[in-house]
Amino acid sequence: MKQLSILGSTGSVGENVLRVVRIHSERFTVKALAVRKNAARLYEQAAEFRPKIVCIYDPQVAKKSAAKFKRLGIRVVAGDEGLAEVATLAGVGEVICAMVGAAGLKPIFAAVNAKKTVAIANKEPLVMAGKLLLETAEKAGVRVLPIDSEHSALWQCLENQDPAFVKKLIITSSGGPFRNKKGSLAKITPAQALDHPKWKMGPKITIDSATLMNKGLEVIEAANLFRVPSGKIDVVVHPEAIVHALVEFVDGSHFAHLGVTDMRLPIQYALSYPERLEDHLPHLDLTHLAALHFEEPDRRRFPCLDLGYTASKIGGTMPAVLNAANEVAVDAFLADRISFLGIPKIIEKTMSAHRLIYKPVLADVFAADAWARETAGELS
Ligand code: MG
Repeated sequence: MKQLSILGSTGSVGENVLRVVRIHSERFTVKALAVRKNAARLYEQAAEFRPKIVCIYDPQVAKKSAAKFKRLGIRVVAGDEGLAEVATLAGVGEVICAMVGAAGLKPIFAAVNAKKTVAIANKEPLVMAGKLLLETAEKAGVRVLPIDSEHSALWQCLENQDPAFVKKLIITSSGGPFRNKKGSLAKITPAQALDHPKWKMGPKITIDSATLMNKGLEVIEAANLFRVPSGKIDVVVHPEAIVHALVEFVDGSHFAHLGVTDMRLPIQYALSYPERLEDHLPHLDLTHLAALHFEEPDRRRFPCLDLGYTASKIGGTMPAVLNAANEVAVDAFLADRISFLGIPKIIEKTMSAHRLIYKPVLADVFAADAWARETAGELS
């Protein structure tokens, strides 16, 4: 029985993690859950899965809800300390991080330092401090497992392969909702950008998919996770979203990972690894698919993709700056303060103004993150 801590349990990935746990309750139990402030949904989850402790990050909400959880025999913790407690709890074998944005960084490092296997769904920690995290995990003797679908696919294609024979990593992109949009993208509204054709996700990542920043972040994430320079990572638009990633080897062989477009697939693999469990998902019917299409991304219309490549190539604190500026710009766009095309502009300006630290420690990453948020905030 594997005992789990789930950080971000009421978000779309967190709910999917719990769906996998519900189906495979003979394999997994939930020992701790953490949320930002959705105490009502957390209570329903807690009543069903009976964790030992829950963290409600917002201390006021935590205080108000404590008595209710206590009646279930569950202790409520709050804030950074509470989050760290959930991430390092004794007996927990794997910590799943499904929090939004940069917030997951501290608890992930805490979990790794406590020798927990971590499965990471939100790409920001791997973008901001991926190199550092992998070094820390190596020292602690634990693994960092990706849940992001493309990276789970790459991981599976690369398993038991000699990195010396890898020529290229290729990640696919659905192309987002504006792949075929005619004319300028200047007047795109948040509502239009939030309507994603293939994946049902939270608002931040849905906007990132529309700008292709999601792929820019994923290039950095892949470079950090698999220790491959971004020059050896390609992005291909694949509207059917059935092939999630490919690995090209030096002899010209390509390994591809195919699967239904459902987050439960990479989530389940990160929980069951190195084993595979019977799935309960819709079956992938190849003859029904008929055709799979691949095309070049439009880098001119979606400059966020190349900003990701640039940040990865520069390295150091730059990926953290890109990530923070993007979070601020996406918030400003969702609040109608800037246009859709303003997003890459703000990120680019913030990156240009940054004074790079080439070999950052974690404190430098947080400082770069804070600086970029302030700078991008002034621009938006
Ligand atoms: Mg992805």
